Amino acid sequence: MNELETNKNMGNNDMDKNDINKSNAYTNNINCNKLHSLNKNIIDSIYSDGFPVAQYGLYMKRAKPYRTFKIPVDAGFSCPNKDGTLDNKGCIFCPKMGRPISVKYCNTKYSLKEQIEKQIEKQKSKGIEKFYIYFYPGTNTYGAPTKLKELWDFALSYSDVIGLSIGTRPDCLNEDVLNILENYVKNGYEIWIDLGIQTMHQKTLELLNRKHDVSDTVNAIMQCKKRGIFVCGHVILGLPNESWNDMMETARILGVLEIDALKIYPLVVVENTELEEMYWKGEYKTLDEKQYIKLVCDFLEHLSPYVLIQRVSKDKTPDEIKISPEWKLHRLKILNEVSNELKRRNTKQGVYFKK
Ligand code: SF4
Repeated sequence: MNELETNKNMGNNDMDKNDINKSNAYTNNINCNKLHSLNKNIIDSIYSDGFPVAQYGLYMKRAKPYRTFKIPVDAGFSCPNKDGTLDNKGCIFCPKMGRPISVKYCNTKYSLKEQIEKQIEKQKSKGIEKFYIYFYPGTNTYGAPTKLKELWDFALSYSDVIGLSIGTRPDCLNEDVLNILENYVKNGYEIWIDLGIQTMHQKTLELLNRKHDVSDTVNAIMQCKKRGIFVCGHVILGLPNESWNDMMETARILGVLEIDALKIYPLVVVENTELEEMYWKGEYKTLDEKQYIKLVCDFLEHLSPYVLIQRVSKDKTPDEIKISPEWKLHRLKILNEVSNELKRRNTKQGVYFKK
């Protein structure tokens, strides 16, 4: 029996109950910007059409009168967990050379202008009409607010750009940054924060060397929602020492917090990370494909039905640096298998969600 199965019924859960109460109190009093909130009727229509998962792609097709695409750009941001401000080691799964991305024009060797224009040109030739600029590698709110505003103003200056996605850590969203983003929302732009959450368990955040707390995550989600900024959280399943109950608790808390969307990933061991050392010492074992698919289904069943699912796998990790797992992480294939498994179970996202 593996660790996951052993832990499944142990109730081994260190989530501070105050955090759950805080989340409940928050959602009871939430004063969400109604200009920018998800349309639940559209999500309901996805389920009524027989899809067991609230897929982001389907939602966007039904919500927008035009085709949209997220253009990933690398604006050269570093991370306070790597540059010595919080630590210089980074999270245990983050490669020392930075997180890899395999999109040609998402690269600092091109100017931001070139990155945006080359990719818009390519996507327009495929019939895409409107774009979000996705500031992806590093911590993209880690800088002077005036500089950040310059970058974001520039990205939004393109007439076909309708919004931004900004990848960041929960402890890097200060008041000044949030105010700038809120102003874009007020001016009609759709602003998403891609938030590195990973887990809602403090013990795991510490093991991962994240150098922020669960309370930072709760606060970041609350502050964004208050301002009409959408939040897409990134979570990892199969983290070291996390039980089945821990993972389901993460799903439930994020549902209670009414997070807008999630990207769900398996933990991938890549070269030159502390996780790689743990892996070779036998201190960590990745999930096999079947275990992962089953866990994603369990996680979705415990999540709110109104959280959009942007991804259920991580297929941007180049094979040259991937140590484990060996199975193909292709996201559409995994999404297909997850949907089939939910249909086989005769369930769907949200069936076990309780506030
Ligand atoms: S916060 Fe993100 S960029 Fe920074 S070390 Fe962790 S995974 Fe890497």
